[in-house]
Amino acid sequence: MIAEVIVDISNSDVDKVYDYLAADGVLPGHRVLVPFGRQKLEGVVIKLKEKPDTSHALKSIERVLDPEPLILPEFLELAEFMRKKNLRYADCFRLFMPSRLRGGAIRELKRNYLFLNPEIDFESVYSDVPARAAAQRALLKELSGGALRESEAMERYSSSVVKALIVKELIIKKPMRTFRAPGGMKIAAEKPVLTPAQQKVADAVIGGEGVFLLHGVTGSGKTEVYMYVIEKALEAGKTAIMLVPEISLTPQMLGLFRARFGDGVAILHSGLSDGERTDEWTRLRNGEARVALGARSAIFAPLSDVGAIIVDEEHDSSYISDSNPRYFTSEVAEFRAAYNGAKLIFGSATPSVESYFKAVNGRYRLLEMPERVGNAKLPILETVDMREEIKSGNTGMFSARLIREIGKALAEKNQVMLFLNRRGYASFLRCRQCGYVPKCPDCDVSLTYHKEDNTLRCHYCGAKFKSIDVCPLCGYDDLKEGKTGTEKLEEETKRLFPDARVLRMDNDTTRKRDAYVDILTKFRRREADILVGTQMIAKGHDFKDVTLVGIIDADIALYYSDYRSAERTFQLITQVAGRAGRAEKEGKVVMQTFSPNHYVYKYAKSYDYKGFFRNEIRARELTKYPPFTKIIRLLSLSENEREASSAARSMAEEIASLKKNGAAVLRIQVMQSAIKRIRAYYRYQVVVWIDADGEDAVCPALYEIGRKHSHGGVSVFAEINPQQML
Ligand code: ADP
Ligand code: ZN
Repeated sequence: MIAEVIVDISNSDVDKVYDYLAADGVLPGHRVLVPFGRQKLEGVVIKLKEKPDTSHALKSIERVLDPEPLILPEFLELAEFMRKKNLRYADCFRLFMPSRLRGGAIRELKRNYLFLNPEIDFESVYSDVPARAAAQRALLKELSGGALRESEAMERYSSSVVKALIVKELIIKKPMRTFRAPGGMKIAAEKPVLTPAQQKVADAVIGGEGVFLLHGVTGSGKTEVYMYVIEKALEAGKTAIMLVPEISLTPQMLGLFRARFGDGVAILHSGLSDGERTDEWTRLRNGEARVALGARSAIFAPLSDVGAIIVDEEHDSSYISDSNPRYFTSEVAEFRAAYNGAKLIFGSATPSVESYFKAVNGRYRLLEMPERVGNAKLPILETVDMREEIKSGNTGMFSARLIREIGKALAEKNQVMLFLNRRGYASFLRCRQCGYVPKCPDCDVSLTYHKEDNTLRCHYCGAKFKSIDVCPLCGYDDLKEGKTGTEKLEEETKRLFPDARVLRMDNDTTRKRDAYVDILTKFRRREADILVGTQMIAKGHDFKDVTLVGIIDADIALYYSDYRSAERTFQLITQVAGRAGRAEKEGKVVMQTFSPNHYVYKYAKSYDYKGFFRNEIRARELTKYPPFTKIIRLLSLSENEREASSAARSMAEEIASLKKNGAAVLRIQVMQSAIKRIRAYYRYQVVVWIDADGEDAVCPALYEIGRKHSHGGVSVFAEINPQQML
C-alpha cells in the first residue's frame, strides 16, 4: 500500500504530498514518522492508494504515532480546501492540532490523587485515629467522600498529615489523568423562557436550511437563541461550536455555558497554556466534551457530526487572522457546516457590509431581532460638536455636557464607561519650535508617549525608549503632546472625579494573562465606578449598572484611508453604545466628534443599520470596492528598499500581462504601503482588483507570482480583502 503523507515542515518549496510505502493498518488521518532527506519528521497520512505516481523507489513509513487516526476525515478535506486558498498543507495541520501534539504522542497529564485505602473499613479505622490527630481525622473524613488532589491535601492539611496516613496505609496515592479546564464564573443554571422574538428566530433556524445571518440589536438576547440551537443539536446526538471574539470570552460567558452544558463544554482561546489547550482539544476529540466554545481557532475544534456552528459578533475583525497562516473563519465555518449538514448562524448587532450584502442577495437567510429583551430600551445617543467646545474655550478631553452627565450618573450610583480607541498617554510628542516628532527607528511611525514609565513606545514593533524633554534637533525644551490616549484619559477622569474609582482596560493594562478578566470582574462587582478603555470594552459585555457611555473621540477610525473606515466607525459606535442601559435602567451615550454631520453619525444615532447599509453599499458600488470586487494585496517586504520596490513592480508587470491575456483582473496598483517601514522591513505593495466571484479563476496565478518573487531578501505575502492596508 502507498500512503500520501503531508510532512510537518512549513516551507513552500517542499509543501506537497509525498508517497511512502505503508504497512497494513496505516489509515488516513494517522500521524506517522517518516524519513525525509536526512531527517525523521512527523507527518499526516491523507490518502491511501495502490500505485505510486512515480517510478522512484519509495521509502517506508517508519512508525505510526497513534493507535487510532488522530485527524478526522473532515479535516483531510478541509486541508485541501484551505490549500486552494493559498495555505500550506503543513500550516493547515498545525491549525488542526494543538502544538503539544506535534513532536510526540499525546502526553496525558497525570496528577497524584489520594484515596482511602479500599482494603480497610473506614468506620473502624476512623475510630482508631486518636482524637488529638484532628487534622488526620478531618482528611480521612474528607476522603471518605471522594478522592482529593495530593497537592491540595498538602496545602490544606500539611504534608506531614498526608505522609502519616500513607505510612499507616490508611490512604493510598495514585496518579490519575486530570484536565486543566479553565474556570468560569459560577452562574445559576436557570434558563429563561425564550421571548416570542427569540422563539421565532430559533424556530426559523431549527426548521430551516442554509446559512443564517442573525441581525439582533445589542441586548436583544442573541446568546439565548444560540444556546437553544446548540441544545437542540446536542439533543439530536450532535456536537456544536460557538465562536466569540477573544475579548468576549469572559468568565461570565464561560459561566453561562458551563451552567447550561456542564463539563460538556471545552474552552479554546489564546490565553490557555499549551497544556490546557491540549487537554481541551483531547476532551473534544474523544467525545467527553461536545460543545467547543472559543475564539477564532475553535472553528478547528476536532468534533465530528457537528450540528450547530455559531459565529457571534461576526463583523469582528479578530475572525480574520492577520498573520500567517491567513484564513477567513467564515469560510471554514461554511465548509464545516456544509460538510456536516450543520446549522450555521452568523450573528451581530452590526453585521459586516459583506455579510449583510449576502443576506440581501439571498445567500444567507436574514433573521432579525430589532428590540431589546424585556423593557430595556436602546440608549439615547447624543452628539457633541467638539468644534463648538473649542470655540467656547474648552480644549480639554471632556465636553461640558459629558462632565455633567458623568456627574449625574455617579450621583445616582450608576456606572460609566469611557471609550477612546487610542492607547497611551499622547499619540506623539512634537517640538513646538522645529516640529520634530520622535519616530521609531525601525518603523515609519511616530512613537507614542507613555507617562506611567516615561517611555516612548512603538505600537507596531513594541520597541521602547526613554522619553525626551529636549528636542534632539533644535534643543528647544517645549515638547507638546499630540492627541491623547487612554492613559491620559484615565488621569483626566481621576482629576475631574476624584471620588470615583477608575479602572483602565487596554493593551497596556492587559498584558498579563487573565488581566482583562480581572478588570471586567472588578467592574462587574462594582469595585469601580468608571471603566476607561479602548475597543476592548466595546464588545459583548453585559453590565447591568452602566447607564452612561462616553465616546471621547468618535472620529478616530473615520479618516483612515481604508474602504472599511465608515463601516468600522458605525460598528464601533453601535457596539460601545450597546453597553449602556442593558437592564431596567435607561442608558445614555454622549458621543464627541469634530464632524457631527458625517452620515455615519446620522445613522448611528438612530440605530439605523439598514439606512447605513444602503448608503454604504451604494458608495462601495460606485468606487468598486468589496463586496462588488475582491481586492488582493501582494505585500513585498525587504530590508533593502530597492529590492522591495522592484519585486513589487515586477509582480505588477506580470499581473498586467495576465490581464492582457484575458484574466479577470480589473485594476492594478503598485505603491509604497501607508506605513513605509515596519520592524526594519520596507513595505511595497501591489493591489489588484478582481471580479467579486473571480477568486478561484484568478487568485492561484496571483499567488504563484507572489511565491516566485518571494526569494532572496524579499518575502511576499498575499491577502484577500486585507483588514488594513498599512
Ligand atoms: P445580545 O447578545 O443580543 O447583546 P444578550 O444575549 O446579552 O444580548 O441578552 C441581553 C440580556 O437579556 C441578558 O442579560 C440576558 O440574560 C437577558 N435575556 C436574554 N433572553 C432572555 C429571556 N428570554 N428572558 C429574560 N431575559 C433574557
Ligand atoms: Zn517600531
